[in-house]
Amino acid sequence: MEFTRLRGIGVSPGIAMGEVFLTAPVIFSQRKEYFPPHRVEEEVGRLRAAVERTREEIGRLKTEIEARIGEEHAFIFEAHLLILDDPTLRASLERLLREENVRSESALAEVHDGYRRVFEAIADEYFKQRQSDVTDVLVKIYKNLAVPEAAPPPDSRGKILVARDLLPSEAALLLSQGGVLAIALDMGGQTSHAAILARSLDIPTVVGLRDATVKVTGRDWLIVDGTDGEVIINPPPAVRKEFQGKQAKYEAYRRELRKVAKWRSETLDGVRFIPMANIELPEEIGHALSYGAEGIGLFRSEFIYLQSTTLPSEEDHLAVYRRLAEEVYPHPVYIRTIDIGGEKALPQLRIEQEPNPALGLRAIRFSLKNRELFRTQLRAILRASVKRNVRILFPMITEVEEIGEVKAILREAQGDLESQGVPFDPAVPLGVMIEVPAAAAIADILAREVDYFSIGTNDLIQYYLAVDRSNDYVSYLYKPLHPSILRLIRFVIAAAQAEGKDVAICGEMAADPLSAMVLLGFGLRTFSMNPIFIPRVKKALRAIEMKTVRRVVNQAMSLRTAQEVEEYLIEKLLVKHPEAFLMLGRPS
Ligand code: PEP
Ligand code: MG
Repeated sequence: MEFTRLRGIGVSPGIAMGEVFLTAPVIFSQRKEYFPPHRVEEEVGRLRAAVERTREEIGRLKTEIEARIGEEHAFIFEAHLLILDDPTLRASLERLLREENVRSESALAEVHDGYRRVFEAIADEYFKQRQSDVTDVLVKIYKNLAVPEAAPPPDSRGKILVARDLLPSEAALLLSQGGVLAIALDMGGQTSHAAILARSLDIPTVVGLRDATVKVTGRDWLIVDGTDGEVIINPPPAVRKEFQGKQAKYEAYRRELRKVAKWRSETLDGVRFIPMANIELPEEIGHALSYGAEGIGLFRSEFIYLQSTTLPSEEDHLAVYRRLAEEVYPHPVYIRTIDIGGEKALPQLRIEQEPNPALGLRAIRFSLKNRELFRTQLRAILRASVKRNVRILFPMITEVEEIGEVKAILREAQGDLESQGVPFDPAVPLGVMIEVPAAAAIADILAREVDYFSIGTNDLIQYYLAVDRSNDYVSYLYKPLHPSILRLIRFVIAAAQAEGKDVAICGEMAADPLSAMVLLGFGLRTFSMNPIFIPRVKKALRAIEMKTVRRVVNQAMSLRTAQEVEEYLIEKLLVKHPEAFLMLGRPS
């Protein structure tokens, strides 16, 4: 048995060891087959019957998953029903049957290929991953064209699941049985359904391994390290022992995380702060709350556009926002209007390629050019606001005029709802993302126009420093602690507070304990981040007094470089207060 180590992307932390369970994917036949023209009605009937069987199957799965692991995980099946009923999809399939007389199997393969090409052209990783929902539905129809075999579902309990990819419904079904020790996939990314589900069920997972299914056989014994993104095939005893030690340490860390999640969010001297979660799918709500989120500080609404192959209706939006508002109540939910265009293209809309997408028709600029789409989204957000815990957040604001336009459209939507007697929160708070440097520089002016700010440091840093951090040539210049960034953020926070307005940070900077301490020193109280980082930040902020952070931060602001700032913070905060840092092992 050969000893091999494979590198991938760790998407759900933790370590597990055990035997292998390999699953084989369904592959669409590549041969194009035809039927005689006089049998067209028969073939259309066969396809429609398969669609109906698929509908029943999805319904059954939904009920089953709801009962096993909760309603929040059954949500994908509603999306799958929408895809199944999508008129464009159905029309393209039937057109191939009627006009070209290709068999249903071949028609499904062809339509699937078309979608695959569209999704592959998308640069944004999160959007790309949504292709799996379309594939999932098409695979189901494909399988339902044949007479179903009565095979018992495979039993993956007590084993490590190794597969090329997991379709959303496969992931839900296999993982909800319980007992899957870990997952290793050739494909996938951070935002695939399998990754999201694995994280919320605490199953160590590594994806993007490329050829694990080729290297692993059913007789192997594996270690999956979801923290560091490694899979080890047939480890010798010494390696096994090393990982057993790492596993024990990780378990202790995890227990600590869960404990910290329940503590009160206040500094050592009793100043309240609010940790919130950034999420992309409603399925993540439970996970976010369990890590101690006191609200959803950023709901990236883009995903709604990928639930179906046509544009989402007001009701599609509403179903998601209502669910968020209800499940997160009494905490607030900041719903950000779509941030698409540019690199985040939408398959439903033929968006023209732009020469410089990061500086192009993105986010609010896109919404203001596509007003009908924008109005639909705003009406749905308003309708979901009846419990008064919804806030609207506008991305990529650059100038005051945009706020004027946004407010005018919102007023129209409010007027429509009022005249139709549809209830909503008339005082729904309006906020803007501060993520374009120009907006940061006029924060004092913008603060008079809106109810709150949310500083998006991911974009703000990249635009202010002119650095694309995914570009290996220049990513070394991406420094959140660059003195220019600190000055800018301090100014924005002060500008909001001078007008008595709320200010939050929802960029990744809020998730780093040292940076979070600096932000606390600047006066920030609301920190929104990927849920798994909440306990880490909470522990850091709870272990410190305001007078300490204020002193350290004031001193840090006089330093010349990001490195000087970082070294100073490490010396004054990390080394002096090691108890504030929740980490695997001791700080070094
Ligand atoms: C940001 O830019 O910091 C942000 C939170 O928005 P996104 O990461 O969705 O662009
Ligand atoms: Mg952004």
